[in-house]
Amino acid sequence: MTNATEYVQRIQNNIHQKDTGQVEFLQAIDEFMPSATQFLEKHPEYIKRNILGLLSEPERIIQFRVPWQDGEGNWQVNRGYRIQYNSAIGPYKGGLRFHPSVNLSILKFLAFEQIFKNSLTGLPIGGGKGGSDFDPKGKSDDEIMRFCQSFMMELSKHIGPSIDVPAGDIGVGAREIGYLFGEYKRLKQYDAGVLTGKPLDFWGSKIRTEATGYGLVYYVKHLLQAEKDSFEGKTVMVSGSGNVAIYAIEKVQELGGKVITCSDSSGFIYDPEGIDLALLKEVKEEKRERLTAYAEKRDSAVYHAGQSVWTLKETADIALPCATQNEIDETLANNLVECGVKIIAEGANMPCTLEAVNVFEKANVWYCPGKAANAGGVAVSALEMSQNAQRLSWESEQVDRQLDEIMKNIYQTCRQTAAAYGNEKNLLLGANVAGFEKVAKVMYAQGLV
Ligand code: GLU
Repeated sequence: MTNATEYVQRIQNNIHQKDTGQVEFLQAIDEFMPSATQFLEKHPEYIKRNILGLLSEPERIIQFRVPWQDGEGNWQVNRGYRIQYNSAIGPYKGGLRFHPSVNLSILKFLAFEQIFKNSLTGLPIGGGKGGSDFDPKGKSDDEIMRFCQSFMMELSKHIGPSIDVPAGDIGVGAREIGYLFGEYKRLKQYDAGVLTGKPLDFWGSKIRTEATGYGLVYYVKHLLQAEKDSFEGKTVMVSGSGNVAIYAIEKVQELGGKVITCSDSSGFIYDPEGIDLALLKEVKEEKRERLTAYAEKRDSAVYHAGQSVWTLKETADIALPCATQNEIDETLANNLVECGVKIIAEGANMPCTLEAVNVFEKANVWYCPGKAANAGGVAVSALEMSQNAQRLSWESEQVDRQLDEIMKNIYQTCRQTAAAYGNEKNLLLGANVAGFEKVAKVMYAQGLV
């Protein structure tokens, strides 16, 4: 019998060899594999069937050209992708990201993470991700629409309510999902369940926009409760100013905490009086402006151009990175520890580097990995699929209650699994093992497919 360490090492080396240069993907693999080793030590039957080897290989990767015409009539081209990583427990499910940084490595890391995140929700969804290196920044509404239509022209060949169900991510919100859905409907038929994150007027779910941010805060709330503590009076640092950040801020404030920061790609806001949420929503959601507009309208706010929010040297209890991958490296992690932060919970996907995670572990800071803590978004997407299949729309209270319940279950699963593996505070280990266990079990049962 091959031992687990050797077996996992062989798979990891093989991936490193085949996918050299895919740094984000390799980072996600390297973060996951130590947990997989611990799990497989207890479950050699999965080694015998090479389940981890099979799971590591994406089931399908689609790459396509997206031609579109800009406002001046120029012919433009971008690259489109969909990674259909794993469909053991349900149709592929995961967002679409439109951002100039998008490449195969980033989407593969996101799709890989999505497998375990979706598994942790307890809902029947597999893992996928897609997007384009298209930059929506500064584009007109018509340009966005034409791009979405062209993107869907190709993507429609590969998706469906029982095949693959995309949603939003960075650069893709209700407006883009609306255009994508319109085009899908024109090409195929009125399958509302082919996309989630739809506008409320056409089959969207209440609380979907809020879900990732609310869910993140619910996860931390349950952690605090278990430690006989709460958000009341806590100082919280948030990065980002998209819908994850905005609704995380909303929920923290509702639960009695004070959020003192937010950021965009040009700089960050430090607002010692606490973020003015109504103003932030006006700037970001209504006017689609930059954060400088927030600073101009708010006396207590200081704007730091060109700097990471995590360089701020102010006392805080909790940090919620809600911007993007690798925003916190080792140095910034050390700064957070010095600021007195006791809990880091990831609203973004993989915002902390491996070195940053090590810093938190050593400093005995609670580290809540994104695949668990930000699973609320995709969980409500799955609830949207249920509503679409039923042709019904549930009330906000019902969706919100279920979201809270799902986040509680995820938190408890992470903690109990970590405890079962002898390291109760290691929520990353708990998330990886619990997410993997379900997928492995189902893959085993479905045979060599
Ligand atoms: N993009 C989100 C995530 O990272 C949501 C995906 C979805 O709703 O399918 O989980």
